[in-house]
Amino acid sequence: MKNIKDYSLEELKQEMQSIGEKPFRAEQIFQWLYQEKVKDFDEMTNLSLTLREKLKQAYTICNYNILKKQEAKDGTKKYLFDVLDGNAIETVLMKYHHGYSICVSSQIGCKMGCKFCASTGINFIRNLSAGEIIEQIIAVEQDENIRISNIVFMGIGEPLDNYENVVKAIRLINHPKGLNIGARHISVSTSGLVPKIYQLAEENIQCTLSISLHATTNQKRSSMMPVNNSYPIEELLQACKDYIAKTNRRISFEYALAKDNNDNLEDAKQLVKLLKGMLCHVNLIPINQIENGAYTKATNENIMKFRDYLNDHGIVATIRRELGSDIEAACGQLRRKNL
Ligand code: SAH
Repeated sequence: MKNIKDYSLEELKQEMQSIGEKPFRAEQIFQWLYQEKVKDFDEMTNLSLTLREKLKQAYTICNYNILKKQEAKDGTKKYLFDVLDGNAIETVLMKYHHGYSICVSSQIGCKMGCKFCASTGINFIRNLSAGEIIEQIIAVEQDENIRISNIVFMGIGEPLDNYENVVKAIRLINHPKGLNIGARHISVSTSGLVPKIYQLAEENIQCTLSISLHATTNQKRSSMMPVNNSYPIEELLQACKDYIAKTNRRISFEYALAKDNNDNLEDAKQLVKLLKGMLCHVNLIPINQIENGAYTKATNENIMKFRDYLNDHGIVATIRRELGSDIEAACGQLRRKNL
């Protein structure tokens, strides 16, 4: 059966026509799915019984079951969802003063193999479809009875390795008749798939691009992130410059600080050299230790020194608050399954 949340409004209009219905039915269905967030075709009361039956025969609404829900001391909540084929993914809800933010997964597993990330070492299974991506948002909103205002693609998976579905999901999230969340409230984080960054720049979406940089030399970056062997730092930064030129959007560079690895002032100096003059922001993350991981967290003192050096040399840098670490819901701690 097809997931009805995998359709854009245009596609659903065509789909309706192909089953002998008027295109405006698609608008009604969108209203039920994305404004009312119903879980059953029978709740779509302005559709005839016959149409509801037809829809039930051909489509599912994709309602995730919550396999597990944990709450951290700081209020962060981690969900393990059953994505209805026996697989599971994690999604995290965070509360900030400006509203709720959700960290969504884009794939079941990940191929990138970053050495510091908990999603590494568990097999890649498959991409999530657009509907499966946005269902994470809808399921959390329904469960908590809230409205989410920010979406970050920083859960499991490499969003740009699932390009078509992620872009489609962003358009559905953003669409006034979809979830109607402003593109500026959506961030896509990538380990640096250069050709896809060029492609994203052409999509005319005003989302924020985050780049997981983490190191300033190719040798060090490759030792942490194998993707750097295919797309080294110079090529990555060139793609970022193109993205900024085309979209006029500021890029956010993620830099996870690991003790005695990438946390000293030499690294900070090199980072200033690399990013000088770019429309960007650096997000410093105290690296989260993962089981059997090679890296340990940098000291607070080093993290602050690193930040101050960047700020003093014209690069805007902030330290990311660590949310949800006591329930393994912090950066890089999400897994495909709670093993
Ligand atoms: N694949 C994408 C998105 C998922 S990871 C990417 O690489 O950007 C989301 C963010 O968490 C990335 O910046 C990633 O580098 C970071 N991250 C992964 N493991 C981490 C860890 N152990 N500590 C801190 N940040 C980590």
